[in-house]
Amino acid sequence: MKAANLCLSGLTSLLLASGAASQQPKLDVALDQELPSLVSTYKALHAAPELSHHEDKTAALLAGELRGFGYEVTEHVGKYPRPEWQGHGIVAVMKNGAGPTVLVRADMDALPVEEQTGLPYASHVHTKNDAGFDVGVMHACGHDIHVTTLIGTAKLLAAMKDQWHGTLVLIGQPSEETIDGARAMLADGLYSRIPRPDYALALHDSSELEVGKISYTPGYSLASSTAVEVTIRGRGAHGSRPEVSKDPIVLAAEYILAIQTIVSRENSPFDPAVVTVGSIHGGTKGNIIPDEVHLQLTVRTYKEEVRQRILASLDRIAKGVALAGGVPEDRAPIVKTSETEATPATYNDPALTAREAAALKKGLGAENVIEDKPVMGSEDFGLFGLEGHQIPTLMLRVGAIDADRIANSQKTGVPLPSLHSALFWPVPEPTIRTGVKAMTLAVMELMKK
Ligand SMILES: [Zn+2]
Ligand SMILES: [Zn+2]
Repeated sequence: MKAANLCLSGLTSLLLASGAASQQPKLDVALDQELPSLVSTYKALHAAPELSHHEDKTAALLAGELRGFGYEVTEHVGKYPRPEWQGHGIVAVMKNGAGPTVLVRADMDALPVEEQTGLPYASHVHTKNDAGFDVGVMHACGHDIHVTTLIGTAKLLAAMKDQWHGTLVLIGQPSEETIDGARAMLADGLYSRIPRPDYALALHDSSELEVGKISYTPGYSLASSTAVEVTIRGRGAHGSRPEVSKDPIVLAAEYILAIQTIVSRENSPFDPAVVTVGSIHGGTKGNIIPDEVHLQLTVRTYKEEVRQRILASLDRIAKGVALAGGVPEDRAPIVKTSETEATPATYNDPALTAREAAALKKGLGAENVIEDKPVMGSEDFGLFGLEGHQIPTLMLRVGAIDADRIANSQKTGVPLPSLHSALFWPVPEPTIRTGVKAMTLAVMELMKK
């Protein structure tokens, strides 16, 4: 992967400061000039996706670009619990006098999905995943759009250096899809290597929003996600002799139904929450009662106290079901909350969101900047805001689908391919254009002189 690197000084003269009124068309002219190179970078990234924990080439490309624009770049930031995973995080800093510190984050990883778009720049990459299975790899979440948008934003802001002040921090984050990349960067001392940001911004493409548009959600916009593993233990026996068993299959069935009351009976209807059992495995044969059954769950909430209460309920109900079933104490169920596969909710600071929404409406047109409702999907970007929302954060969404496809889906009733679908494809040029413009405007709103 190699990206065309246009001359920065030419861009600087194009964007030379001269009042806010004339900044707008100049930004558009600069974007016109940058887009062909950005689109070719995007297509190169799209054709060469890398799985979470393995983003080395993507990270190297991003680092090279940012260094070329004059940023001070640190590579290999990130520390995982598994020593064989390398940290591929990038931190790029541009110090420009006294002023606010603003962090902009782009995630870099792709998914184990075999691309079926048939695009000329489609991925044909296959690799072994962490479990050793051969998988297709695809940028099915559009993180290649995010990396490209960060490159474009970095270049424009470097060229506009005389118009802003403060410290700009650009982050290339690995392993968002496994939700352990932001944590790995913070665990590697991110906030002791850079000044702690006053604001953190990010952008994600949308598989439903029309190109040219930006959406925002004040307050909680994405849920926290916690993986939970439950082992229901019993006593195995011949299938014909249930009387000498403690049947974990029946107990697991009771448990799954019992935990349905957590959201419906224990939780306030005003606090959104989801408890899903996504996997159940137990037994080998119809005439054998097994010793144990394994369940894998995901828990989604916005509020931390709701998450804690649900996790406590999952544990309490497991013990209660075992007790009711007469399971001896030494075979009590094991309820394990994953420490690595967990991420807090994404909370868009209301004041920051209102400020940026107003700035973006001015820059992109009020009709192109839309308030959207929250969803129960998850992201690990919220971690950059630190516990208790210490740093105001905002994640914007950028439209990636052309109007024709949206109209066609509405007409036929066939839903558009969602993010993570093998058929998802953002329209490169207008998506990147709007992404770069929106992020540049958003940073300028916080850092302008
Ligand atoms: Zn994703
Ligand atoms: Zn994503």
